[in-house]
Amino acid sequence: MSLADQAKKFGFNQAMKYLAKDPEENLPKLMEMVDKFMPADVFVEQRAAFRHAISEKNNWYQLLMKFYALDPHVRETVFRTFLLNGNLIGWPLQEKKRAEHGCNIPWAVLLDPTSACNLHCTGCWAAEYGHQLNLTYDDIDSIIRQGKELGCYIYIYTGGEPLVRKADLMKLCEVHNDCAFLCFTNSTLIDEAFCQELLRVGNFVPAISLEGFEEANDSRRGEGVYQKVMGAMKLLKSHGLPFGLSVCYTSRNWDDVTSEQFFDQVIDMGALFAWFFHYMPTGKDAVPALMPKPDQRTAVYQRIQAFRKTKPLFTMDFQNDAKYVGGCIAGGRRYLHINAAGDVDPCVFIHYSNVNIHDVTLLEALKSPLFMAYHKGQPFNENMFKPCPMLENPDILPRLVAETGAHSTDPEAPESAEDLCARTAPYAQQWSPVADKLWEEQKEK
Ligand code: SF4
Repeated sequence: MSLADQAKKFGFNQAMKYLAKDPEENLPKLMEMVDKFMPADVFVEQRAAFRHAISEKNNWYQLLMKFYALDPHVRETVFRTFLLNGNLIGWPLQEKKRAEHGCNIPWAVLLDPTSACNLHCTGCWAAEYGHQLNLTYDDIDSIIRQGKELGCYIYIYTGGEPLVRKADLMKLCEVHNDCAFLCFTNSTLIDEAFCQELLRVGNFVPAISLEGFEEANDSRRGEGVYQKVMGAMKLLKSHGLPFGLSVCYTSRNWDDVTSEQFFDQVIDMGALFAWFFHYMPTGKDAVPALMPKPDQRTAVYQRIQAFRKTKPLFTMDFQNDAKYVGGCIAGGRRYLHINAAGDVDPCVFIHYSNVNIHDVTLLEALKSPLFMAYHKGQPFNENMFKPCPMLENPDILPRLVAETGAHSTDPEAPESAEDLCARTAPYAQQWSPVADKLWEEQKEK
C-alpha cells in the first residue's frame, strides 16, 4: 500500500472511531475539523450537503444515524471495505490503470456464482435454464484477485440465486476481507444460521428482490414468497445487519413500488437502500408490454427524485440516474457482468461477448473487442435520459455486436442483437421526445 493510501486509511480509521463514540455529538465536530483542514475548493458541494444534513437533521442525517444502530463490527467492516477500499483507495487506482491500459476499468464486478435458483419466477431467465451452470470457488477467487490488482474492491453477486452457494460465498468474504460483497437475492435462504455468518464476516450485504405488495409479488414469484421476504428482513434487522432492496419496475407494478406506502413500509422494515431497475426485455421469454410507458417512466423518475428529499432511504434509479455517472456504466466503465458459464458480458442485461473468463484474464476481457467498442462509444447519447445502446438507442447495440464479432451468451436460447433491439425500437421511439423534454428541463436547473 502506498504512503498516501496508508495516510488515508489512518485518517479514515481515526474519524470512524471518533464518530462511533457518539455519532450525534461528534458528527458536527468532525465536519468542523474537515472544513478547517481541507482546502476550501475540495468537495465543495458534498461538504455543503453534509453541513445542511447535519444542521437540518434531514432524511440523509437520519439515514446516516441508522448505520449506528447496526452491529458495530459489521458497520466498521462495511465502511472500511466499501467507502475506504472501494472508493477512497480503489477509485484513484482504477483511474491510473484506465490511463495505463487505455481501456475501461470497473468500480464493481457483477458475477453469477450459479444459474440455479430455488424459485421459478415467471419470465426470469434463471428459471428457464434447463441445466445448472456454476462459477467454481477458484474461478470467483481468481476474478477477485485480478480485480483488486486493478483497484476493484466491490463484487456484486447476481444469478440465479447466489445464496444457493452460500458456503462458498462466506469463504470468499473471509479470504477477501478487504472487499465489499453485495448480493441480489430472493432472500428465502436467509435464516438464523446465515445471519450468524453475516455477523461473523461483516462484509456481505443482501439486496432483496421485491416486486411490490403481497399479491403482485406472489403472483410472479410464487405463493408465500412475500411473507418469506418480510421474515428475512425482520431477521436481518433484529441482528443489526444492513440490507437493501432490488426492485424491477414495470408497466404493471410501477405505481405500487414508487408509492409512499411502499417506501415507508420498506424503511420501517429496516432497508437502508433500494435499487430500482427498469424492466428490460432480455431473453426469449421477455414481455415487451412490461416496459413502462413514457408517462410511467417519467412518474417513476419524479417520485424517486422527490423521495430523495424526504425519505431516509438511499435510492438508485438505474435508467434515470445516468446524469450522475455520465451515461452508460457498462462494458467495464464502472462495471461488467460475468455469467455462470464464465462469459464476460458488458452488462447484466446485455448478453453478448467475445470472451470467457476461463480463457482470458480480466484485463484481457476489458480489452476485448466489444468492451473496447463500449469504451470508445460511451456515452452512447448526450441526453442522459437515453443512456443505453439497447433500450433507448436500439440501432447501436446491433452495430457494436456486428462490428466486434461478439456472440450471444444466453446459455439457453441465443438471440441476435437485431431481434433483441426490435423489441426496444418502438419503446425508444415513444420515449425519445419525452426524454428530450426532460433533458432540456434538467439543463435549465
Ligand atoms: S448497457 Fe444499458 S442497461 Fe446496461 S448499464 Fe448501459 S445503459 Fe444501463
